[in-house]
Amino acid sequence: MTPPQDAEARRAIAPVICYPTDSLPPVAPARMEAAKSDLTKRAEYIAPARDAACFHVKAGQVFRISSIDGPQVGDLNLWNANDLSERFFSGKTRALHGTHVTTGERLWSNLPHMRPMATIIDDTLNWYGIDPYGGSVHDVIGTRCDPYTHNLLSGGQYHHCCHSNLTRALSDETGLPLSEAEPHIHDVLNVFMCTGFTRDTGQYFMKASPVRPGDHIDFLAEIDLLGALSACPGGDCSSEHSSDTAQCHPLKIEVFDCALTDGFAPSTPNGYDKTHGR
Ligand SMILES: [Zn+2]
Repeated sequence: MTPPQDAEARRAIAPVICYPTDSLPPVAPARMEAAKSDLTKRAEYIAPARDAACFHVKAGQVFRISSIDGPQVGDLNLWNANDLSERFFSGKTRALHGTHVTTGERLWSNLPHMRPMATIIDDTLNWYGIDPYGGSVHDVIGTRCDPYTHNLLSGGQYHHCCHSNLTRALSDETGLPLSEAEPHIHDVLNVFMCTGFTRDTGQYFMKASPVRPGDHIDFLAEIDLLGALSACPGGDCSSEHSSDTAQCHPLKIEVFDCALTDGFAPSTPNGYDKTHGR
């Protein structure tokens, strides 16, 4: 197409932020500090390499995901422990907080719930920022590796993509058959994964995660949660996923009581009246 005469002028229009978050209820610094205080460990789970584990966290408890044996990324799903239809909304979390999340930002649930499920209270990788390629850590842009995309692009049947790992873990946890567990699997928070979009073609890219054993990301549960974490077959995601090629490591999940746990008030339902104009 021939560009219009005012093409450059149209491109030069400055962007506006779609969802300024200034009016969100603030995460008070004192609340963040209390969530990091008086930690008493209550449970520990391991997501084995190329596999997933489910875990439970009560509202007001803290959960920590840690790198243990080597650089490894994880794909995280979250549900309301009492209602699997309320689950993590990666897309709106991205629209509110940006492509990658870190300390002080919240993970939101899907419509018609749309409330905080968890708040990130600590992130040992938040020094990373945005690198010269436009990459950053803990993204809400990649959906999860899955055997359907793998089949389309490469052919073959691979059974340890994060989508399948999460499906098996949820099935084992709930007793639902695989076919009924699978529709509950949703777009993830890519824990520790380093990703971005190429500037020239706009394509989703990954690069070796900067995570090292001992790094962790901590969340305050804002409602009772059922979580599932897959240790991605991509390992540190420096080369490829959806295969057994990459070196993979387990991930650890710990659940703690904190200074806020006793008497914690879960996040309240969204204030929209759901009448949709009728
Ligand atoms: Zn994966």
